[in-house]
Amino acid sequence: MSALLEIRGLEVVFGGFRALDGVDLTVEQGELRFLIGPNGAGKTTLIDVITGLARPAGGSVTYAGASLVGRPEHRIVRLGIGRTFQTSVVFEELTVLENIDLAASFRRPLAALLRQRRGTSEVVAATLERIGLAGLADRPAGVLSHGQRQWLEIGMLIAQRPKLLLLDEPVAGMSQDERERTGELLTEIAKDHTVVVVEHDMEFLRRYASQVTVLHEGKVLVEGDVAAVQADPRVQEVYLGR
Ligand code: ADP
Repeated sequence: MSALLEIRGLEVVFGGFRALDGVDLTVEQGELRFLIGPNGAGKTTLIDVITGLARPAGGSVTYAGASLVGRPEHRIVRLGIGRTFQTSVVFEELTVLENIDLAASFRRPLAALLRQRRGTSEVVAATLERIGLAGLADRPAGVLSHGQRQWLEIGMLIAQRPKLLLLDEPVAGMSQDERERTGELLTEIAKDHTVVVVEHDMEFLRRYASQVTVLHEGKVLVEGDVAAVQADPRVQEVYLGR
């Protein structure tokens, strides 16, 4: 009964094509859920619906007891849902700290901002520590490595204190070392937030995932514990067939 996100019978149609075809998904408060599936399975479309970017043709999306269907994107952000995109949203000429500070200010009315400068700084400092970039706080974001930039984007999201974070392939293009640090970061973040991660990398899933939902051709193929999901012949068939 403590589900933060509850999706039932979700349908999304592009032209005549059914990108999502009766998807049910329940994410409990405090969960770290991984969403996998081959290209074209509907993963990004699912995130687009949750964040108000795509409109469903049918079904329901309920977040903290309220329906999200038909709400504009900015209202959904205000309800505490944040997402990363595959394209970067970092301001390269601003410092790492300024990027976090700017993101943290998005959710605050101006008057509260002026009153709470100190409080905001604490959020920013805590965020910099959490994403491991405190030592680079005064460097321009443009000099960051690919992995550091991904962490900064995650930091910009958590500085807005969302309840639900939706991360689209956060370890894509990262080195092994950066993947490990990202896995640890996700585990940390999931202590304070509910997190849904779209990820392809099976090795990464084995190390950091517990609950996994597999999408295939717009439907939920299998769902459950990572070991059981990976051993499932239907999942192996879909992945070997790639
Ligand atoms: P995934 O993220 O799992 O790779 P997507 O959600 O991006 O899959 O896409 C699911 C299917 O919907 C794909 O076949 C894709 O081509 C199609 N699709 C996605 N967005 C659109 C769109 N705006 N117009 C038409 N087809 C789309």
